Amino acid sequence: MTDVPTISHYINGAAAVGTSSRTAPVFNPATGTVAKNVLLASTRDLDTAVAVAQAAYPAWRDTSQARRQSIMYNFRELLNARKGDLADILTAEHGKVTSDALGEIIRGLEVVEFALGMPHLSKGEYSENVSTGVDVYTLRQPLGVVGIISPFNFPAMVPLWYFPIAIAAGNTVVLKPSEKDPSAANWLAALFTEAGLPAGVLNVVHGDKEAVDALLVHPDVQAISFVGSTPIARYIYETAAKHGKRVQSLGGAKNHMLVLPDADLDLTADAAVNAGFGSAGERCMAISVIVAVEPVADDLIAKIAERVKGLTVGDGTRGCDMGPLITKVHRDKVAGYIDIAQNDGADVVIDGRDITVDGDPNGFWLGPTLFDKVSVDSAVYLDEIFGPVLSIVRVATYQEGLDLINASQYGNGTAIFTNDGGAARRFQNEVQVGMIGINVPIPVPVAYHSFGGWKNSLFGDAKAYGPAGVNFFTREKAVTSRWLDPSHGGINLGFPQNQ
Ligand code: NAD
Repeated sequence: MTDVPTISHYINGAAAVGTSSRTAPVFNPATGTVAKNVLLASTRDLDTAVAVAQAAYPAWRDTSQARRQSIMYNFRELLNARKGDLADILTAEHGKVTSDALGEIIRGLEVVEFALGMPHLSKGEYSENVSTGVDVYTLRQPLGVVGIISPFNFPAMVPLWYFPIAIAAGNTVVLKPSEKDPSAANWLAALFTEAGLPAGVLNVVHGDKEAVDALLVHPDVQAISFVGSTPIARYIYETAAKHGKRVQSLGGAKNHMLVLPDADLDLTADAAVNAGFGSAGERCMAISVIVAVEPVADDLIAKIAERVKGLTVGDGTRGCDMGPLITKVHRDKVAGYIDIAQNDGADVVIDGRDITVDGDPNGFWLGPTLFDKVSVDSAVYLDEIFGPVLSIVRVATYQEGLDLINASQYGNGTAIFTNDGGAARRFQNEVQVGMIGINVPIPVPVAYHSFGGWKNSLFGDAKAYGPAGVNFFTREKAVTSRWLDPSHGGINLGFPQNQ
């Protein structure tokens, strides 16, 4: 262990060291140095956090909606006032530039604002006099302790997709964030405590597979919300479901942008650069493939290349456009796709290894990379690369482009760029993808519409936040009630009929 601070868990309203001495390094990706270590929980530590959350549950469940909402409101105000501090943490551990870090927080804040409507969103229904003197009504109640497991690429936003809704609905939470950039979760939990959240309602346990596995099988955990890569998303879904839990499990992506010949190529090139290289391509909604319906490819590539020349890559605190990748291992893996592209016959239009960086030479840098004429059999096309790499695939027709997108194992996001309303309408109907942009390159739904893909981008059928989030974190109870009067008397063993 190097001589740097160690990040603890956050359990029962305070920092907690737990029983495990295992740690993982947390890098500053812009300098390549180990800035901190993070504790990796043992199964016992995870069990402690679940026990704390279970103990906090009855009182939180029974806290009035008014009181819960006032705490949520305080949290919203504090988060909004201090989002700059959180953005600095994100830049220091993830590497994303400050403006991008702020953008992620603001999208998370929107979910907090959505969750402020929980008294309305979780209202039940009432039917009067369904039979003589009999009423039926439904209640939406919390589940109990819920587990959240989040990825490295949105260390604030993805936890914020889930825990505000879970908590506003009356659940208690154990959050297991990515061990690569763990500090944001502790910061959020401490802020919620400051906002008045009772101890034990939101707990953060850091760790790796050991902590995740303990969460997936724990009998007191009622539900699991996951975001991460497809193989792990599948594993989480299968394991948690096998142990009787409600599961929402969002996986990886390979998002295509279909460009029709009538599109405005300047605006399309702007959108492609923003969506391909923002956050160094480490977004599940990044555009990674442009499907160019000929004859647009040559002109579009020239316009993208011209824009890429103007991008600055460097330390996220210095006003650059693009920061480093998360780790050296990941940076080298992404850079390896440049060799694969060359071997598989693609044209390397821009090689991200040839860049000048505004930052420490030891940072995990890779510049924007552009491939043309990528074969759809190549790993460059098929794999989720998760870096600043944009591939162009040329097709002859709309139909050929659509078929390509629909053949993908992923179905997270896609976009069509066109001025033809009929074509766009046809595309939204025919494409097998969960989130679609019409001239919008990163179609992340607002907080009051749910987020989630199709196929290997989402396991189970529960999307994140919005109405699906409210459904996920509550369960319905139906009550049939009568206040007895003489007309209800008599013996009748037949199935009850309404009259
Ligand atoms: P990851 O799957 O490696 O890790 C996600 C979480 O799972 C982390 O908390 C990690 O500690 C845990 N984990 C990792 N390996 C595990 C194992 N073997 N057993 C149990 N738990 C394990 O993902 P990542 O690299 O942190 O994040 C990037 C991935 O997340 C990309 O594939 C990206 O597309 C995806 N993502 C998807 C969405 C979406 O909404 N669909 C959003 C953001 C990120």
